[in-house]
Amino acid sequence: MVNLYRNDIPSDLVFQNSVAVDTETMGLVTKRDRLCLVQLCSENGDVHLVQMQKNMYHMAENLRILFTKESVLKIFHFARFDISILNYTFDIHVAPIYCTKVASKLARTYTDRHGLKNLCKEVLDVDISKQEQSSDWGREQLSNEQLKYAAGDVLYLHGLRSKLDKMLIREGRMDIAQKCFRILELFPDLELANIDPEELFLH
Ligand code: MN
Repeated sequence: MVNLYRNDIPSDLVFQNSVAVDTETMGLVTKRDRLCLVQLCSENGDVHLVQMQKNMYHMAENLRILFTKESVLKIFHFARFDISILNYTFDIHVAPIYCTKVASKLARTYTDRHGLKNLCKEVLDVDISKQEQSSDWGREQLSNEQLKYAAGDVLYLHGLRSKLDKMLIREGRMDIAQKCFRILELFPDLELANIDPEELFLH
């Protein structure tokens, strides 16, 4: 089931325990490229797409509550980018978070293929398309191809988390993973302060 909304989710849309989240933007530069779409997927596989209109970000009160709610884990793939644009756009701190890319890097040290497409293929045996990745997400009416692609980006994150958690436990890296997810919350703050996190810890 895929639902499409504008500027916010309805107040009666409730997520238990966890929600898979992705965003589509005009580009990859937080302060330059605006947020266009927020994709959410519940644990039972319902997808909710929220199209964000320019200058209407103040309308997203229910999204703000969801993204900062301590009892709901927000699952991303490459959380660093998504939480940066969400924190900046909505003036919030998204937490708590889980990143399937970081989990994959900690659990699957036998490979350097940690993109969503590769991860879905190897861990879940699912083929996802990445064709609409670079398209105009700011347009007034998104195409069916865009909506399908956008839904695909959140549809498998719960399944990935479940498989990756098993691997992390098996390899004794769950504790490190959880600490990494907490540290990830700091990256948007460093970015907005123009502090390079890589450089910060160098000699
Ligand atoms: Mn995406």
